[in-house]
Amino acid sequence: MSTRDKTITEFMIEEQRRFPGAGGDFTALLNHVRLACKRISFIVGRGALAGAHGAAQTTNVQGEAQMELDIIANDIFLRTSEYGGQLAGMVSEELDEPYQIPADYPRGRYLLAFDPLDGSSNIDVNAPVGSIFSVLRAPHGTDQPAPADFLQPGAKQLAAGYAIYGATTMVVLTVGRGVHGFTLDRGFGEFILTHPNMRIPEETSEFAINASNERFWEPPVKRYVVECLAGGGGVRAKDFNMRWIASLVAEVHRILIRGGLFMYPKDTKDPSKAGRLRLLYEANPMAMIVEQAGGAVSTGRGRMLDGVPESLHQRVPVILGCKSEVERIEGYHLEHDQGLDQAYSSPLFNERSLFIQG
Ligand code: MN
Ligand code: MN
Repeated sequence: MSTRDKTITEFMIEEQRRFPGAGGDFTALLNHVRLACKRISFIVGRGALAGAHGAAQTTNVQGEAQMELDIIANDIFLRTSEYGGQLAGMVSEELDEPYQIPADYPRGRYLLAFDPLDGSSNIDVNAPVGSIFSVLRAPHGTDQPAPADFLQPGAKQLAAGYAIYGATTMVVLTVGRGVHGFTLDRGFGEFILTHPNMRIPEETSEFAINASNERFWEPPVKRYVVECLAGGGGVRAKDFNMRWIASLVAEVHRILIRGGLFMYPKDTKDPSKAGRLRLLYEANPMAMIVEQAGGAVSTGRGRMLDGVPESLHQRVPVILGCKSEVERIEGYHLEHDQGLDQAYSSPLFNERSLFIQG
């Protein structure tokens, strides 16, 4: 490390100085979050040696099987963030109700929503996983937040970020002035600014979608993917590549570095769920990051950050990444909803497989 390298703490202090009168509690909160990520990185990096791999034989509030590390990472986030006095409450993927700050700790004016371990099914195969977090202001005077206090549009987030635990551990952060990436120097245990002002490339020929759900997709999504697969001879007049890592953090990170499009669209697989990803601690923080990096995030039928959440663990369709591609898919949804895409809405089209076109 050169003595000129900037640590994440120095970066936060500089950001804080831009706002005269700003207290240090926002910086302190992000310091706790970064410490939680460092602790999780350490355990994830120990792999089977940590003795905490595999399923926990329990399910979370959403009926998903929990891994042991889901529970450990959740505890780390709670324990590391609760005592500092900056938070009024927290919401986690792993908890049914908002977490109340224990009575013997002071309470602050921020709310934290997080997915402590994203992509946890990747753990056992040694593929990247991550953590995602979102910071909101607690509604005035609230120090025992009710679920409704967390139901703020994503546009109200003060900060959002993720950690990715891959070959290297990084924290990628926005406080509303661009997106900045910090790499963990394992030698002395600090995150160093290595990726200032991350920008999503404006063009892409890569997309990511779980194609095994094809038969459940809506016509606008089928249309987009069919056009990509048609390659150089189709309407897009270029060949596309497909990627799928099954971890939102890893997908977003790839798109921030080299561009692309990611979709987990609305489908008909389970009509009670509007999508797969959760709005408060997956879609919204990623939407703030992606927009701050020059990309776009949509449900297909509107900007993600404008949506008003209806419940803590609400799921949403997510179309995210390269702005022109997201706008194209939004356009396909609009044409579909207006009945202007007859060729793509016909039963014949819907029965054709993406992989056997004819
Ligand atoms: Mn997740
Ligand atoms: Mn998770």
